[in-house]
Amino acid sequence: MYKRITNITLCPGVPDGEPLTFIEGACIDIRDGVIEYAGKGEGAPATIGCEFIDGGGCLAVPGLANAHTHAAMSLLRGLGSDLRLQDWLTKKIFPAEDRLTADDVYVGAQIAFVEMLRYGVTASADMYMFPDEVCDAAEAVGIRVAMCYPATGQGSDDGGSIEKGADLLRRRHNTANGRVRIMLGAHAEYTSSPDIIRALAEKARDLGASIHAHVSETRAEVEGCFERHGVSPVKYFADLGLFDQPALAAHCVYLSDADIDILAAKGVFVAHNPVSNLKLASGVAPVPAMLNAGVRVCLGTDGSASNNTLNLWEEIRLMSILHKGISGDPASISPSQTFHAATLAGMRAMGFERVGLLVPGWRADIALIDRSGPHHWPILEPAGDLVYSTQGADVRMTIVDGIVRYIDGKFPGLDTDDLKKRACVAARRLTDGLIGGAEPIDRA
Ligand SMILES: [Zn+2]
Repeated sequence: MYKRITNITLCPGVPDGEPLTFIEGACIDIRDGVIEYAGKGEGAPATIGCEFIDGGGCLAVPGLANAHTHAAMSLLRGLGSDLRLQDWLTKKIFPAEDRLTADDVYVGAQIAFVEMLRYGVTASADMYMFPDEVCDAAEAVGIRVAMCYPATGQGSDDGGSIEKGADLLRRRHNTANGRVRIMLGAHAEYTSSPDIIRALAEKARDLGASIHAHVSETRAEVEGCFERHGVSPVKYFADLGLFDQPALAAHCVYLSDADIDILAAKGVFVAHNPVSNLKLASGVAPVPAMLNAGVRVCLGTDGSASNNTLNLWEEIRLMSILHKGISGDPASISPSQTFHAATLAGMRAMGFERVGLLVPGWRADIALIDRSGPHHWPILEPAGDLVYSTQGADVRMTIVDGIVRYIDGKFPGLDTDDLKKRACVAARRLTDGLIGGAEPIDRA
C-alpha cells in the first residue's frame, strides 16, 4: 500500500549531534511501512494510485520512544500517591501486584499502549510479569514493544526467571514484523545476587540479547549496594559482565564520575525518568554530566503507578528545563539533545533498527502535531517550540509501521470503550482495600 501524507511541516528528527531542522510545505511517501520520500512537496516523485492523508498543516515528527515503563501498571495508576518509595512498594504496589492475573496484564498493557499512541509514542521498553500478555497487547494495539521478564532471586536460585526470559526471547524476539523485540531483564541489584547477574550476563552473551535493568534509582539503593558489595550498582553490574552486551539502564539518579565513565565506555543507554523520579522524591539524574561524557541518554515515563501518565511530552518538557534550573546553566541541554533522547536514542536502546528518523529507507513511525493552538503562536523558534510548548494533547495522528493507529480521538479497529470497562473492573479488584488509609496487607 502506497500512502502520501501531504500538507505538513517536516521535522526529520535528530541524527547524532545535529540540530533540529524544519521543512515547510513537505510530504512523506510511505510504501509497505517504509518511508520512500520525505521532503519538500515540490519536487516530490510523481504519485500514481496512492492514498492521500491530509496532514492538516501539522508538524510531522518521528514517533516518540518511551525507553522505560511497566505498561500494565496503568491498572494501578496513581495508587499510593505521596507515600515514601518503600511504603509505596510494600504497602500498596506489591499487595496489588500479588493479585494480578495474565488477563489483567493483557488489559492493563492495552490501556497503556492506547494512551501512548494518543501522545505520539510508537515504541516502549517494558519490564513486567506475564510478558507474553504484554507482547500480545502490543500486537493487538499495533505499537512496538521491547519486552523483558526480569531476573530476580537470592544466592544462586533465580526461581527459573532467567530461563523464563530466555524462553520468551526464543519464541517472540523480532516478531510482528519486527514490532515485538525481547530483551533480557535484571530487575535490580537489590532484588538479585552476583550469581544471578553473572548467569544472566552469560545467557545474554549466548543469545546475543540486550539487557534492561533498574540502576541506581535511589540513594538507599546505592548505599545498600556499597554495604553488600563494596561498589556502586553501576560498577557492580559492569564487573559482573552485564554491560558487555547492549544495555539499557533505567533511572541512574545517583552516579559518581566513575559511574558515568563506565556507562560511557560501555555504551550503556540510560533511560531518564524525570517525572517518576520527582514524584517518588528519588532525586534528579545528572543528565548534563552524562551527555557531556558521551552517555547515550533516552527518556522514559516509568509505570503510571508512579507518574501518573504515559505522556512523554511531560518528560520532554521536564528534561528540557529541569537541568537548567538544577545547574544554573540555561545552555546545559539543547532542544535537539532532548528530542534526540525522546526519539532516536530510545529506539536504538530498544534495538529497533531504522526507526526514529523520518528519512527514506526508515520505518514510518510518525506523530503529527497540531501547532495551531495559542500556546504555539507565533512559533518564532521552531526547535524551542517543539520541546517547550508542545502539549501531549497536540498530537492529532500517530502512525506505526506505516499504519494509522490514532487519529483525532479515535483508535481505528480498537473498541476502547470495552477496554476501559474491563480495565476499571480489574483495577477495582486489584486495589480493593488498598486505597487511601486502608490497612496494608503483608506480602507473603
Ligand atoms: Zn521501572
